Amino acid sequence: MSQQPFTPPQRGKSAFHCPHCGAYSNQLWGIAHAARGGGGLVRIDGINIGWCTHCHNDTIWVDDGLVYPEARQAPPPNEDLPEEIKTDYEEAASIIGKSPRGAAALLRLCIQKLCKHLGESGKNINNDIASLVKKGLNPTIQKSLDIVRVIGNEAVHPGIIDLKDNPESAIILCRLINIIAEAMITQPKMIEGLYSSLPEDKKEQIEKRDN
Ligand SMILES: [Zn+2]
Repeated sequence: MSQQPFTPPQRGKSAFHCPHCGAYSNQLWGIAHAARGGGGLVRIDGINIGWCTHCHNDTIWVDDGLVYPEARQAPPPNEDLPEEIKTDYEEAASIIGKSPRGAAALLRLCIQKLCKHLGESGKNINNDIASLVKKGLNPTIQKSLDIVRVIGNEAVHPGIIDLKDNPESAIILCRLINIIAEAMITQPKMIEGLYSSLPEDKKEQIEKRDN
C-alpha cells in the first residue's frame, strides 16, 4: 500500500483507496447501460461504475452511495487496538456506505471502549478525551470531536450536512480512533522498545538522572 494518506472512495474521483485491493489507485468511470426488450442499450440514470486501474475490479454507485463492494470507505484499524475494538471497528467500516448513522454509533462505542482501555471511565466520551488530553493527547482531537457532534446534530438545518446521508463523519470517527490509538498505544510502545534496546549502563545513567 502506498504512503498516500487514506482517501475514501468517492463517486467520480480520479483516485482513491480501492475498496477491493486497498491500493491508492487511479479510477476510470463509466455510466451503466442495459438492453431493454431487445432494443439497443439504454443508459441507466444514477448508476455509475468505477474501475480500478490497479486490480481491475468495478465499484458500483447509486447516486453518491457505494453499493458494491460491501462499502469499504474507512481506513484500516490501527494494528495495536485491542481485538474487541478492532472487531467493532471492522463491523462499522463494513456498513458506512449503507448506514453511516449505524456505523457512527458503533464507532462511538469503539471510542468509549478505547477510553476505558486507556484507563478512563468509558462513560462520557467528552470527559474521557479531556482527561486524555491532560495526559498528552493532542488537544485538536477535542476539536475533531466537536466537529463530529455538530455534524451529527439531530436537528437538520438547510446547508448543514445530514449524518444519515453522509459517511464523512463516520470516517472522521474512524480516523479519530486511529489517531488516539497511535498517540496513546503505538507511539509509547515504540519509544519503550527503543529505550529497552539501549545498553544497560546508559539506562542506569538515565534512571539516576531522573531520580
Ligand atoms: Zn483495486
